[in-house]
Amino acid sequence: MSEQIGPIAVLGAGTMGHGIAQCFASIGAAVRLYDVDLPRAEKGRAQIRAVLDKVVAKGKMAAERADGIVGLVNPTADVATAVTGARWVIEAAPEDMQLKVDLLGKVKAAAPADAILGSNTSSLSITELGARVGAADRVIGLHFFNPPPVMELLEIVRGVSTSAATIAAAESMAKAIGKTSILVNDAPGFATSRLGVILGCEAMRMLESGVAGVVDIDRAMELGYRHPMGPLKLTDLVGLDVRLAILDHLTREIGEQFRAPPILRRLVRAGHLGKKTGRGFYVWTPEGPRLPMAGE
Ligand code: NAD
Repeated sequence: MSEQIGPIAVLGAGTMGHGIAQCFASIGAAVRLYDVDLPRAEKGRAQIRAVLDKVVAKGKMAAERADGIVGLVNPTADVATAVTGARWVIEAAPEDMQLKVDLLGKVKAAAPADAILGSNTSSLSITELGARVGAADRVIGLHFFNPPPVMELLEIVRGVSTSAATIAAAESMAKAIGKTSILVNDAPGFATSRLGVILGCEAMRMLESGVAGVVDIDRAMELGYRHPMGPLKLTDLVGLDVRLAILDHLTREIGEQFRAPPILRRLVRAGHLGKKTGRGFYVWTPEGPRLPMAGE
């Protein structure tokens, strides 16, 4: 199956990109991991190494297998190198329509004419992306969840002109990497982000209006509703900038209920983007998240 699937190009080696690359390398597919410069692409591969080192240290994977997975990931800062001969291209670049259109436009010029162009967007229109790139039949939403190697769901998003063959290929690819897929029609925020961000948004409004503190709001959902992670901790994990971009888009597309709370915008302006920068609603330490100290 890996031979039928690979080689894969993953564009953007950040929070999601390196995890998506790991999913494919884990089934033996060769992955090209692209980012705007080589240090960022290499950092993505180093993050896969760090994740797998922990798994090996726990005795859950042989060191040789971890080496094999990392060895299948090739970082590059050249789009053409990444996509030449690729059967699948999955972009995990920032949540910005113009940026994604420009990126997939470059991909289209260098990738095979039948390569499937997947987008990991959390909220943007697959129909618009496909039309603007000029490859609407083979552009599809492949929405992975954080962290991709662990989360079981792949939300497949069908644009108005995505072909049946592209959808069928995505469904069988999901099975091959061990995911359970759902198929949703293109709508702002799809089935997942639309519900997920509204919960996070309400948690922030409750924090702002003094209903409860960060830990108690998170515990309310963790212990009362059996969510594996409270909405504020989850916002830290996703990235505050990513959530802000989604909320701004959903406010424009759906309405005021998605208006980003001021606290979110303030934290993003301060560069507190969540786990990836070490600080969001929590301070992220090697021992885990804790609340910021007074004056910190
Ligand atoms: P991130 O900020 O962690 O990583 C984005 C990466 O893209 C960075 O490494 C950046 O250098 C790179 N990049 C910037 N410009 C680029 C370009 N022109 N071409 C290629 N790469 C470029 O962001 P992320 O959290 O990985 O989000 C990426 C995408 O995945 C977004 O569309 C986001 O909405 C979506 N998503 C995020 C999550 C999450 O939990 N963070 C979950 C599902 C989907």
